[in-house]
Amino acid sequence: STQEQTPQICVVGSGPAGFYTAQHLLKHHTQARVDIYEKQLVPFGLVRFGVAPDHPEVKNVIHTFTQTARSDRCAFHGNVVVGRDVTVPELREAYHAVVLSYGAEDHRAMEIPGEELPGVFSARAFVGWYNGLPENQELAPDLSCDTAVILGQGNVALDVARILLTPPEHLEKTDITEASLGLLRQSRVKTVWIVGRRGPLQVAFTIKMPRPRKRLAELLLQTATEKPGGEDAARQAVAARAWGLRFFRSPQQVLPSADGRRAAGIRLAVTRLEGVGETARAVPTGDTEDLPCGLVLSSIGYKSRPIDPSVPFDPKLGVIPNMEGRVVDVPGLYCSGWVKRGPTGVIGTTMTDSFFTSQTLLQDLKAGLLPSGPRPGYAAIKALLSSRGIQPISFSDWEKLDAEEVSRGQGTGKPREKLLDPLEMLRLLGR
Ligand code: FAD
Repeated sequence: STQEQTPQICVVGSGPAGFYTAQHLLKHHTQARVDIYEKQLVPFGLVRFGVAPDHPEVKNVIHTFTQTARSDRCAFHGNVVVGRDVTVPELREAYHAVVLSYGAEDHRAMEIPGEELPGVFSARAFVGWYNGLPENQELAPDLSCDTAVILGQGNVALDVARILLTPPEHLEKTDITEASLGLLRQSRVKTVWIVGRRGPLQVAFTIKMPRPRKRLAELLLQTATEKPGGEDAARQAVAARAWGLRFFRSPQQVLPSADGRRAAGIRLAVTRLEGVGETARAVPTGDTEDLPCGLVLSSIGYKSRPIDPSVPFDPKLGVIPNMEGRVVDVPGLYCSGWVKRGPTGVIGTTMTDSFFTSQTLLQDLKAGLLPSGPRPGYAAIKALLSSRGIQPISFSDWEKLDAEEVSRGQGTGKPREKLLDPLEMLRLLGR
């Protein structure tokens, strides 16, 4: 059948889930065509806008994604917001199968009084700010206080703490944005507390997977108690900056300054554990502790949003309900990555998960479970988008922007200086 010969498949989202799904589909079906739609003008999702600037080796996956995007059976269409510029039913009509890989773009709110005060940010927005995510460029956090409190003890919390405490000259040769580096240079933040509801054995940091918890706990204790040596000691003496973990504390209220205009501290409920092992729950003891601080960053998790009323969504778990990547009750619709599993796991986990979804899809294709007959694929969507005044960004457009960023970084020894303004990007592309 035609679908066996040239299946038209579309992937929504160009983060690791989208790219690994596409890579696997192209590799295991010699005829399949894959279109990747992305709402940002630029590709790679959290590899560009999440992974910390001082972890450049993690971003090497971009080379693999670029190989995939350059395949003549693959196309990237940036600047297309699925759910707004084109609907999921329209995509399902144009393709034999649609894979939703749009990640987790929201954050979990703490839902405590004072959360809206200036000086309180989500770690998600803070990370977006220093990594050049256009929507977070107005954040400009006030770093004139001496203490910051991060609520939540996961990898993102550690990234944020590191960026706040690393001497700015150590970030100068990374792809951190020049604007955020400017503010970090003037920062007076000296102490960062990383606060968690539970204890050292339940923290959510991951080290190179898979490693047992015991090793993790040892590493944590070692890091917390180790005397720094050599260059590190010198650096710390000069910078006089410190961080610490506070366990068994849960946020209760952000305390306002005397004039009520901004955050001046946080009230923490003291907790104790009920139960044992990984499932132990933190319950309040009734005691509280007030920590003065001018900056509060909530890092209690990312959260996916529903994309389109036609797509089932589990608001409690924040995922698309699915069985092995097949969206429940919607034939021909699949999901992969954080929107499938929830917002945890490193790029490697996302890769394995995306390969599974692709495998499931290819099995369904082989079993004749996808629509038969030819599908127009991008030709139909292109016409729709142009009737709506949307101009997609192609992968070769991105390669022009990429070259521009690299050349802007060259003068200062940075791998790139990221473009921050979508209008400027469009101008550079002659739009
Ligand atoms: P994402 O990477 O978020 O990709 C989703 C894509 O979908 C985005 O490009 C988004 O713009 C797009 N999209 C969203 N909505 C729409 C829409 N409506 N229409 C079209 N497109 C849409 N892992 C590591 O291995 N090492 C690390 O050092 C590391 N650091 C991290 C640091 C942070 C701050 C975070 C948050 C995560 C980090 N991770 C790290 C984890 C890693 O980033 C994730 O495992 C991975 O990015 C999840 O992939 P994804 O494709 O599901 O989501």
